[in-house]
Amino acid sequence: MQISQSNTRLKGAMPMTTPSDSALRITEQFAQAYGRELAQAAQPTAAVALRAAATAARALLAERWAQTQAQDAVRDSVPGAAHPVRRVHYLSMEFLMGRALTNALAALGLEPELSRLLAAQGQQLGNVLEREPDAALGNGGLGRLAACFLDSFAELGLPSFGYGLRYQYGMFAQAIQDGRQVEAPDDWMRLGQPWEVARAELRYPVGFGGRVTVDEAGQRHWQPAEQLEAQAFDFIVPAHHSERVSTLRQWHATAAAPIDFKAFCAGDYAGAARHRVAADALNWVLYPDDSSEAGRELRLKQEAFLVSASLQDVIARHLREAGSLDGLATLGLANAIHLNDTHPALAPAELMRLLLDEHGLGWDEAWKITRQAVSYTNHTLMPEALETWSLSLFEALLPRHLEIIYEINARFLAEVKAKFPGDDALLARVSLIDEGRNGGERRVRMAALAIVASHRVNGVAALHSELMVQTIFADYAAIFPGRFHNVTNGVTPRRWLQQANPQLSTLLDARIGKGWRQDLALLRSLTPAASDAAFRQQFQAVKLANKQGLADLIRREIGVQVDPSSLFDVQIKRIHEYKRQLLNILHVVARYQAIIANPDAAWVPRTVIIAGKAASAYVMAKSIIQLAHDVARVVNSDPRIGDKLKLVYLPNYGVSLAEVIIPAADLSEQISTAGTEASGTGNMKFALNGALTIGTWDGANIEMAEAMGEENMFVFGLRTEAVAQIKALGYDPRLYMEQSAQLRRVIESIAGGEFSSGDAGRYRALTEMLLNRDNYLLMADFAAYVDKQLEVDALYAQPEAWAAKAVLNVAGMGDFSSDRTIAEYVDRVWSVASLG
Ligand SMILES: *Cc1c(COP(=O)(O)O)cnc(C)c1O
Repeated sequence: MQISQSNTRLKGAMPMTTPSDSALRITEQFAQAYGRELAQAAQPTAAVALRAAATAARALLAERWAQTQAQDAVRDSVPGAAHPVRRVHYLSMEFLMGRALTNALAALGLEPELSRLLAAQGQQLGNVLEREPDAALGNGGLGRLAACFLDSFAELGLPSFGYGLRYQYGMFAQAIQDGRQVEAPDDWMRLGQPWEVARAELRYPVGFGGRVTVDEAGQRHWQPAEQLEAQAFDFIVPAHHSERVSTLRQWHATAAAPIDFKAFCAGDYAGAARHRVAADALNWVLYPDDSSEAGRELRLKQEAFLVSASLQDVIARHLREAGSLDGLATLGLANAIHLNDTHPALAPAELMRLLLDEHGLGWDEAWKITRQAVSYTNHTLMPEALETWSLSLFEALLPRHLEIIYEINARFLAEVKAKFPGDDALLARVSLIDEGRNGGERRVRMAALAIVASHRVNGVAALHSELMVQTIFADYAAIFPGRFHNVTNGVTPRRWLQQANPQLSTLLDARIGKGWRQDLALLRSLTPAASDAAFRQQFQAVKLANKQGLADLIRREIGVQVDPSSLFDVQIKRIHEYKRQLLNILHVVARYQAIIANPDAAWVPRTVIIAGKAASAYVMAKSIIQLAHDVARVVNSDPRIGDKLKLVYLPNYGVSLAEVIIPAADLSEQISTAGTEASGTGNMKFALNGALTIGTWDGANIEMAEAMGEENMFVFGLRTEAVAQIKALGYDPRLYMEQSAQLRRVIESIAGGEFSSGDAGRYRALTEMLLNRDNYLLMADFAAYVDKQLEVDALYAQPEAWAAKAVLNVAGMGDFSSDRTIAEYVDRVWSVASLG
């Protein structure tokens, strides 16, 4: 693989700074920053120490950043390279980065040094690290994937940028009041943002609205009604085994003319600041749900803003490096532009506009460059989640882009017509414009634009990629055979094993060496350790210590005592019907009732732990959260139950909470309806930390089972084909209740108000949904799930056998590093060879 060879070379060209050098420098930087912070704060606190530590670490990373940019600027002249090394630009509306200091210290190798420096100021490193707010500029898996990818970009030495928006408020903070979710703004920058580097010189104009005019030469010109400026803020992402870095560049909007001076002088202050307020609105908030209707116009503006600023930046950098305007011809060869889902799918239209209107290229050349540059990852099969925009909104905000999309569409449809003559239904299905034939309004289909303009489209796990070309994108796959690929997701072992689970890391280091951090496939050599009793005992001791830590956190956060020796059964992820947290709760109720009915049986004590946020407008998901709290209250306070069963709901799920919970899990719940979870990455983090999975044959669960051996996973439930079949035959959820007295008792107790203090109305909508629609087949999978949970108990009752399987889970996870994922992207999606 061309690029990784070049990267090895890049890394080799830059020896690591010696530890004593950087220890000296961080001492110096920290002393200066601490002095400055203290002068402002007047008294030493953990927050002061945190800002000083972050500032010091950033100063060291900034040196690596400058070195990396200098190397990348001349990457085309790498001697012996058959192709130019392409720079990757990863466009994403979400980056769920979490905390940065632990990662930076690990990358710099300076944790011991900083710990010492802090101790001298009377501060404990652990306390200081805990102070850092999560950068939660993402909703869930898609945003966390982008964050893992940045880590791997740096680690692999890939010339790269992540591009996103600098939201003032990230994912909302979740609190629970009376068992209900309440949302509060996540003001993550209120204590300052010591990590970011404001790039005052990097500004680009971004327009909205207005109209398109044509000059005598026939050249079209867009005259936007509103002009904003995008300003860059950089966050440096370090490699852990070289001095390479990647960059997350986030855009902040300001008004091009911040105040209207005329209005100001006339005393109209609100009018004078109008532009400013409009610009600010763009920066405000990460949308808590990409399917919510609220603020659609603002959301489209955010997407257009991200795309335009990022592409102008790519072009400016390329022209600088290419040295001349003719250099544009090689833009697509030298640069990959990747769309993380369709949120940045406007990119091909904007790139065409910039090349045609701003740089004077002809259509054919501009289109060739665009297709070379652009590629797209699909993240969901649910047709209702495919992004579309009403034509009227689009035309009002982006009139020139709409013209370009029409032209792309006309040429595309002509191609399809030539290839499949006479198939008008096909033309209507694949058109970039939904004509709204059934009385709906006309809309732009963003996925269609992304597919037509990309040279590669990929799904995120084998099953998902297969279903993608069989279902939602079947027509496009027929038109563009060879365009569709699979690249299975992965997670970074630096954050999700090394940093989240230091004790297990130490144990692994002693057994198989330290190389797994860079080459996760080395975990395979752990396999024999599964049959080594001494190792299993150490492995279990680490797990118990992590569980003790989580038990402490549970007590601190919600005041519930849990027994660390009980089976920790964990489901943490966005709350969504397809992820089936409700199925988990139904099982808890069933178990509760079974324990009461048979209190003297040898129950394996279990602590069920749930965490996750629901989109603020998602009523059913919020009802599921409330039910979890109602069931928890009843179960946890029932003296007949004691430690045999506990249910805890930890509020405000995010990266940092996941880093504590995952290493402490015995059982990982990955129970989505087969065919609905594109990949999942939570599933990977758990197995990597030695939890066993109870899961459906869905997403990456399948590849995990294949890698570790299906006998090491608790697989249950209907598979994709069976789900489709049941639905085709006319699914009747009530049938399952009639066949199972256990399921009937569970549903009736919820419907009858047994968990809601007699309030039978509270869960009517929920139980009615289960009995009448049950779109995600909870009722059909209930019996198999409960049976499988009994198998889980039986294995947990044999600690040696359980530990052996847990070790084999870790040993089987070598393929699921995001380093492997990124190497595959480079190979199949971003390489010059992939351009065909
Ligand atoms: C990994 C991760 C996710 C994705 O979890 P899934 O179980 O794959 O849905 C979501 N949120 C956070 C904070 C994560 O770390």
